[in-house]
Amino acid sequence: MSTLSIQGVSKRFSSETIAVDRVSLDVADGELVCLLGPSGSGKSTLLRMVGGFEDPTSGRIAIDGQDVTHLPPERRPTGMVFQSHALWSHMNVFNNLAFGLKLRRRPKVEIRDRVEAVLDLVGLKGYDRRMTNQLSGGQQQRVALARALILEPKILLLDEPFASLDQHLRERLREEVRDIQLRLKITTLFVTHGQDEALSMADRIVVMHDGRTEQADRPDVIYRDPQTPFVAGFIGTMNFIKGHVENGRFRHADLSVALAVSDGPVTLAVRPEALDLVAPDDRSRVVIHRVTDFGTHGLIDLHLSDGTRVKSMVPSPEPFQAGQAVGLAPRSFAAFRNDAKLSGIHHAR
Ligand code: ADP
Repeated sequence: MSTLSIQGVSKRFSSETIAVDRVSLDVADGELVCLLGPSGSGKSTLLRMVGGFEDPTSGRIAIDGQDVTHLPPERRPTGMVFQSHALWSHMNVFNNLAFGLKLRRRPKVEIRDRVEAVLDLVGLKGYDRRMTNQLSGGQQQRVALARALILEPKILLLDEPFASLDQHLRERLREEVRDIQLRLKITTLFVTHGQDEALSMADRIVVMHDGRTEQADRPDVIYRDPQTPFVAGFIGTMNFIKGHVENGRFRHADLSVALAVSDGPVTLAVRPEALDLVAPDDRSRVVIHRVTDFGTHGLIDLHLSDGTRVKSMVPSPEPFQAGQAVGLAPRSFAAFRNDAKLSGIHHAR
C-alpha cells in the first residue's frame, strides 16, 4: 500500500523560469498517473522532485504520509527509469541489477533469486551474463525498468522511458509496462508528451501547461470533457469554431446551432467524429475541400468562410467528393468563452 502526495509544489530555476508552479496531486495506491504536456511544461522537473533529483522551491512531497521533500534520492522509497537508460555499459546485466542489492549487503543467494525473478518479470530470462551494450534499445530499457523494480520501491517513476525507441517497440513496451505495473500493483508516476501513451496506459492523466495543472482526470474524461481550450486542443484532433451566441443560438457564417448560454462570443470545440455532414440548408452550407480515404474511415476537410479549417470523420468517404456542398451538424461539443468552459458537454438537437 503506497500513496504519493504532492502539495503545492513549485520549482523556480531563476527569476524568469518557474518550471513547476504550485502543483498539487495525490496518487492513490496502485494507480498509474501520466503527466502529459508539451515540451517545457514542467513534467520532468515535477517527476525529478518526487525522485529527489531536484529540490522544490516550495511545497511538500509525502510518500505514505511521510515527508520526503528534502531527502536525497537514495533515501527515498522511489525507483526511477530515465529516458536514456543510464545503464553501466562496463557491467553485465546481472551486475547492473545486483548493484543496489549489494550496496544493501543482501546475501548472495537472495541477490541471485531476485535478479532472476525481475528478469523473468521484464521478459529477459537468461540474459544475466550479457553485456548491456550487446542489447537492443528495447532490451536496455527493460533492464533499466528491472533495475528500478528490483529494489521494490513504493513509487515507480518513469521519465519518457520509450522516447528513443521506434513506434512499434514503443507500443509493445507500453503494454508490457502496464501489465507489469498492474501485476505488481505499484503506484506509478509516468512522464510523457505522447497522448497515445497517456491515453492507453493511465488510470488518470494530468495535463500540464506552463508548469501548472490544466486538468487531472480519467483518460476518457480528458478526451470527452476537456475543461480548458488547451486540453481540448492538446489531446486528439479538435475543431475550434469561433462565433457568437444570441438568443440561445450559436452563429457562425457557415453554421448555426442551438446553445443555451448567455449572449456573447463563444468558441465551439467539436471532435471530427462528432461533426456530422448532412444536406446543406439555411443553417449550414460549406463546400468540401478534400476527401481522404484511410480505409478504416474517411476524413473530410472543409474550409470555413473565415479561414477556419475543420475536419469531419465519416465511416466511409464514398458519398463525398471535393467541391460538394454539405451542412455541418455537430452532434456534441464543448463551448468556451475567454478560456473558461461554459457548462457541460452540449448535445445538439
Ligand atoms: P518537460 O519535462 O515538460 O519538457 P521540464 O520540466 O524539463 O519540462 O522543464 C520545464 C522548464 O524548466 C523549461 O522551461 C526548462 O527549460 C526549465 N528547466 C528545466 N531544468 C532546468 C535547469 N536545470 N535549469 C534551468 N532551467 C531548467
